Amino acid sequence: MTSLLVFSDLDGTLLDHHTYSFEPARSALQSLRTFSIPCVINTSKTFQELISLRTALNHQDPFIVENGSAVYIPKHLSLRIDETLEDCGDYWLKAFGPKREQLIDLTNDQTNHYTFTRFSDMTYQDLMAVTGLDEENAKLAMQREFTEPMLWTDSNQALDQLRHHLDQFDIQIQKGGRFSHLMGKHCDKANAMLWLKAVYENQAEEQITTMALGDGENDIGMLSKADIPVVIRSPVHAPPEVPNRSDAWLTDAYGPEGWAQSIDKILSKQGIV
Ligand SMILES: [Mg+2]
Repeated sequence: MTSLLVFSDLDGTLLDHHTYSFEPARSALQSLRTFSIPCVINTSKTFQELISLRTALNHQDPFIVENGSAVYIPKHLSLRIDETLEDCGDYWLKAFGPKREQLIDLTNDQTNHYTFTRFSDMTYQDLMAVTGLDEENAKLAMQREFTEPMLWTDSNQALDQLRHHLDQFDIQIQKGGRFSHLMGKHCDKANAMLWLKAVYENQAEEQITTMALGDGENDIGMLSKADIPVVIRSPVHAPPEVPNRSDAWLTDAYGPEGWAQSIDKILSKQGIV
């Protein structure tokens, strides 16, 4: 059993910001597999969006979807887990918040008070028009499980009022670039990472060192709670500041190239290669 556990964001981190290629990281990914070091994907993407990508990456490890909303654990890993998880075919599922249907139900009556449009109020053609996604990806993006994005067309004050109302149901609203996201209060990348770390510590009965790699604002929580935080340099924005972590690494190279450099560095630092 390994004592190192890697958590990685996808877009702009393992995947190139512009081309979505992971080619520069291919051999570093292979090194992790060779030394049985799990590489956990921790992304805002959905389960459906990850299926073909995990095949391309030859990814066999657990993965965290929809910004920390849920952890999927492949059953073939036979991890010992001291709680009851949902049975999802080839996976065990640990969810940290309510299902999407509940998020929709709890906001249905709010359409009388505020102006907003949720994914569930749109057709995939509407979503294509709003985002510029092609048909296939628009359909994939609509297959969500734990978060409901909405176009908020009301005031910020109104958004705070709705936030306050939903708080009693343990639901939060996270503001993103284009959409505001309805999701469970306890859904975040850091929480999910720490839960999975404990699962692995439970197997190994030894301390696990976590290394987290991310390039964006939504990775800050995960980075600040990791033993080794790695900020991946982005070609389009300044590196996010990780509060109180002057020990955080900052890669020289962008995206997957920086990713590969930091994996090689930790492997040689730990005397593994
Ligand atoms: Mg990113």
